[in-house]
Amino acid sequence: MNPFDLSGRFAIVTGANTGIGRAIAVGLAEAGADIVGVGRSAMTETEADVRRAGRAFVSIAADLSGPGIAGKVVADALAAGATPDILVNNAGIIRRADALDFSEEDWDAVLDTNLKSVFFLCQAFAKAALAAGRRAKIVNVASLLSFQGGIRVPSYTAAKSGLAGLTRLMANEWAARGINVNAIAPGYVETNNTAALRADAERSADILKRIPAGRWARPDDMAGAAVFLAAPASDYVHGTILPVDGGWLAR
Ligand code: NAP
Repeated sequence: MNPFDLSGRFAIVTGANTGIGRAIAVGLAEAGADIVGVGRSAMTETEADVRRAGRAFVSIAADLSGPGIAGKVVADALAAGATPDILVNNAGIIRRADALDFSEEDWDAVLDTNLKSVFFLCQAFAKAALAAGRRAKIVNVASLLSFQGGIRVPSYTAAKSGLAGLTRLMANEWAARGINVNAIAPGYVETNNTAALRADAERSADILKRIPAGRWARPDDMAGAAVFLAAPASDYVHGTILPVDGGWLAR
């Protein structure tokens, strides 16, 4: 048996239209999983890539920032024929401002999408997996700011640090019940999320100087770690936050 084979498994991936979510969805499909993409924008390109890999793709339209969405997303996925096997919580936003000026609106927006919605999606998914009696895998997309303080992103740091804690808590509660909960902590990845950072020549050069790998990550650099954490290969891995950061945290 290939311990990285995902054939016969469904993966729900949030924010699958672009960036890291798209790369993870395609990586999981190439490993054999059928994909349920969840998001607020059309996922046309992701769907085409998944189908090229020979896998099925279902899309669910959802704005994950609102209350009470999680149960509906999981119910819609099951109604579309998915089984509760793999959940990748990737959707996320970032708001940048000095801590002295940071607004309550930017606090709430980031916490709602990056932390609250992730917890309730995990809860709804775990209930479905337990009810179906299936082994399941949850992969959260954390950040280097699950380990470090960051600059000018207070709500993002709070959310991603909180997500690391929640990942461990859910692992503690669900490991013995057949659900693995882990996270990936991407380093600096070339996506919409980091466009402002890359546009700032000084900050961008400072960041690059500190990355042992000598380059920013591409979204598809995240796919291998996601496949590992979604596959039988990681069956005894619980509550870990796996940095995929070109060595950044080793410095
Ligand atoms: P991105 O290209 O901006 O992708 C973010 C995704 O989240 C998009 O699909 C976006 O949909 C979706 N999303 C945001 N708010 C949503 C909402 N309310 N409802 C539904 N979907 C929503 O950025 P990315 O870098 O790939 O980010 C993916 C994840 O990686 C995020 O959790 C981010 O925090 C994390 N991360 C990124 C980096 C990095 O360097 N890029 C580093 C560490 C962690 P729309 O396209 O419709 O907005």
